[in-house]
Amino acid sequence: MIFAEILAIGSEMLTPFRLDTNSLYLTRTLEERGVAVIAKMIVGDVQDRIIEALDLASRRSNVIICSGGLGPTIDDITKEAAASFLGLPLELRPDVLVTIEERFRRRGLRMPEGNRRQAMIPAGGTVLPNPNGSAPGVYLESKGRQFFLLPGPPFELEAMWEQYGLPLVGKDRPLQRLVLRVAMLPESKVDEMLGPVTGRLRATGYTILASPGEIEIHFLAPEDSAQELASAAEETRKLLGHHVYAEGAQTLEEVVGRMLRESGKKIAVAESCTGGLLGSRITDVPGSSTYFERGVVAYSNRAKVELLSVPEETIRRSGAVSEPVARAMAEGIRRLARVDVGIAITGIAGPDGGTAEKPVGTVFVGLAVEGNETVVERFSFPGGRNRIKFFSSQAALNMLRLRMLKGD
Ligand code: ATP
Repeated sequence: MIFAEILAIGSEMLTPFRLDTNSLYLTRTLEERGVAVIAKMIVGDVQDRIIEALDLASRRSNVIICSGGLGPTIDDITKEAAASFLGLPLELRPDVLVTIEERFRRRGLRMPEGNRRQAMIPAGGTVLPNPNGSAPGVYLESKGRQFFLLPGPPFELEAMWEQYGLPLVGKDRPLQRLVLRVAMLPESKVDEMLGPVTGRLRATGYTILASPGEIEIHFLAPEDSAQELASAAEETRKLLGHHVYAEGAQTLEEVVGRMLRESGKKIAVAESCTGGLLGSRITDVPGSSTYFERGVVAYSNRAKVELLSVPEETIRRSGAVSEPVARAMAEGIRRLARVDVGIAITGIAGPDGGTAEKPVGTVFVGLAVEGNETVVERFSFPGGRNRIKFFSSQAALNMLRLRMLKGD
């Protein structure tokens, strides 16, 4: 595992008026690369304090990232502190000086003398170009540690980091990543189910990323621990079984699309509360015309009756958001479109329209498959309107997937 530590340098962040946001950005990018940020420090513009912080950080982390204090003014002392800590002299780098002078010249200005300091680089350091500012960054390797000195302004730091910094992190230790995708299980449940696997991991990192109706399980391991990663993945597949719908970057609609194409089945959808989202997701997949026949948005009661032949009596008796209506919609669209599978969604996306019996988030998904009994599932989704709509489309796709896995 690679451990990283971030030093946000700047006395202004020790006041109540300025927040360190750079470390949030850096942490996100590092996490995506499987690097664990184990500590962050905010340090004022005082050389001895910065040296102390570098000393502490380099004892426990492999990657140390400093942000701020690369500017031309006298209180910008990050490079001096790092050079002193690593026992390196600062050297004037003529190529860097030319780049900075050129930057001023292009704007019709003469470079102020103070900016010469920005061309002073600790000996042996690699210059990280600054696409959005004058202060170059610095990369240093020393005692098996990687040090990055980045500018403070987020707009400068982000561009430099993405292009020149991040690719260097852990460059000697290529990582293997394996992503397993799970639909319609809560994050806490997945985490609990995977307890026996994750508790034993030594060199392999493990992260769960959750979004509505979708969990990504990431395993990351250095190449020399590929075996551990492979067995963790194998055990995960066993523990989660059919809940894992894909590996790698595939979406649920792509997986369902592939299954439909392979089975030669055609589908049609009837949507109420999702307003066409399910059809839209299905048709996001290139080639979906081979299996997607039509989608109907039947929002009003009248549309359900006129376009899907839902009996008026059923709506009156059970309400538009109900098991019998979802059933009638699914069967109706299947019959009218003359296809193998009909899927229907009816629900309450809110914020209004909920009742004690059917609160906001209540959704019924109907699945009518030729030669089989129609199935309707009731769901209770959390969140706002968009979230409930997405959850509903996800649930419908997943019901179809599970049904096809059974071979129906
Ligand atoms: P400059 O050339 O602009 O002086 P610098 O590398 O010296 O760049 P600082 O002077 O330390 O950077 O900071 C410049 C500005 O960048 C700060 O006023 C602040 O707005 C922003 N900044 C610095 N550090 C952070 C941080 N950790 N998070 C968010 N913003 C920051």
